[in-house]
Amino acid sequence: MTSNRSEAWYRSRSLWLDEVDLGAPRITLSGDVHVDVAIIGGGFTGLWTAYYLAVARPGLRIAVLEREIVGYGAAGRNGGWVGAGIAGSSAVYAAKAGWQRTRLASHLTEQAVDEIGAVADAEEIPCDYLKRGTLTIARTTPQWQRLQAEVDHAKTTGMLAPGVELLSPEQVRDYVAVPEVVGGAFTPHCARVQPAQLARGLAAACERRGVSVYEHTEATSVHSNTVVTAGGVVRASSVLVATEAWTSRFAGQRRRYMPLTSMMVATAPLTAEQWKALGWPPGLTIRDRRHLFFYAQRTSDDRIAIGGRGAPYALRDPLGEFDSAQSDNTAIWDRLIRTLHEHFPGTEQHTVTHRWGGTLAVPRDWSMGVRYDHSTGLGWAGGYSGHGVVASYLAGRSLCDLVLGVNSPHADAPWVGHKSRRWEPEPLRFLAANGIVRVLDSADRREDSTNRAAWRAKLVKPFMPPA
Ligand SMILES: Cc1cc2nc3c(=O)[nH]c(=O)nc-3n(C[C@H](O)[C@H](O)[C@H](O)COP(=O)(O)OP(=O)(O)OC[C@H]3O[C@@H](n4cnc5c(N)ncnc54)[C@H](O)[C@@H]3O)c2cc1C
Repeated sequence: MTSNRSEAWYRSRSLWLDEVDLGAPRITLSGDVHVDVAIIGGGFTGLWTAYYLAVARPGLRIAVLEREIVGYGAAGRNGGWVGAGIAGSSAVYAAKAGWQRTRLASHLTEQAVDEIGAVADAEEIPCDYLKRGTLTIARTTPQWQRLQAEVDHAKTTGMLAPGVELLSPEQVRDYVAVPEVVGGAFTPHCARVQPAQLARGLAAACERRGVSVYEHTEATSVHSNTVVTAGGVVRASSVLVATEAWTSRFAGQRRRYMPLTSMMVATAPLTAEQWKALGWPPGLTIRDRRHLFFYAQRTSDDRIAIGGRGAPYALRDPLGEFDSAQSDNTAIWDRLIRTLHEHFPGTEQHTVTHRWGGTLAVPRDWSMGVRYDHSTGLGWAGGYSGHGVVASYLAGRSLCDLVLGVNSPHADAPWVGHKSRRWEPEPLRFLAANGIVRVLDSADRREDSTNRAAWRAKLVKPFMPPA
């Protein structure tokens, strides 16, 4: 079914979509077309793939099919963190590809942060890209221990990115005045963006290079060389599926990913005095090290946009429930608002103007995959487990090189060909999803009140990524 919703409805999906000029909708596919590459999904994965294909081979006939509008999915709703680091578990990739290749892949993620900024610059995409790094704060001893262990583990495996450092409470205060901090860590490898602007600007850049982008065009069935939509059939030498969380709606794909919802709120703009009191510089992204961590950015118009996990998973239709019941998830938003007030004094006086959420795809081993089969011309990418802004860029580059048969670090990255095993059938996946959230939430509350590591967090270890 192809939807045709109002502009107001799309705007209400996120602060970011509310801020962009949506303009007139793009055309919907009507009639059959023949192209070289058909890409399903107008999010970051689909658009980066189309962009790099069009750059590498001008004249290639490329069509992007989007069931709603460009940036409707997680690409237009996320935290706007363009953060380095492999999406998933380094250990999972290293087990197959070895640490040397996994380290190279990690460097690709660091370079990607700059490359995304360079494309935004070259294509004049006004997406507020600003690279000032990420501060992770610990406000309890267990959070601090986890941070230290993470940095130690990265050192031992050779995966520590250059410039990453642990910080004393005094050093944390040089970045931001969060109360009761016991330690922190800084990485320079992260930028903030207005993600919907990036997605929509990227679509326009693709179109300038001759890519056809169709909106309100849902792929109802996908085969090698053929995509069926309500308005027509697309025939293509290569068909690439870039639908992340929605992939589980395709026949036979239900257990490929666990669709998890992440929620966000944004405040009204803070005053210059408040920013001065907080000391939080523009562009710096901030998170904590709870099990159900928060992630926050200072937006270019001086709001705080903060997000976190914890929304319940609906058994019947995790994605459908989320879109129709978005405004009922008040408990999660209330928790985010409490987190905001606890960490950033003075924000209590500020109205929360936007509340939203979005769905991301988690494979069974939490590790992304990109595949392309030359014999059928069918490819797909996804499973970024909530760390998808850089990962979708890299997946797009990998898909592009695989389709063109180009040997490159992107085509040789350890996520290429990686296949995670499927999730347990329902209701086990439902129990796992809600169990993870409940157990981790309870572990966080226990740690906050006792200042000791809550061992109950280990109960969900079988469902979490290997260290
Ligand atoms: C609230 C939230 C916060 C996040 N924060 C961050 C962050 O700060 N940093 C980070 O790195 N990652 C973050 N993520 C994850 C990141 O946003 C995603 O991993 C990334 O956007 C995935 O891009 P994508 O293009 O693969 O998928 P999406 O952006 O979800 O795009 C998929 C598109 O496919 C379309 N589609 C689906 N089915 C069909 C069909 N049958 N036919 C045609 N089109 C279809 C959808 O409408 C959608 O537009 C966050 C995610 C959420 C939800």
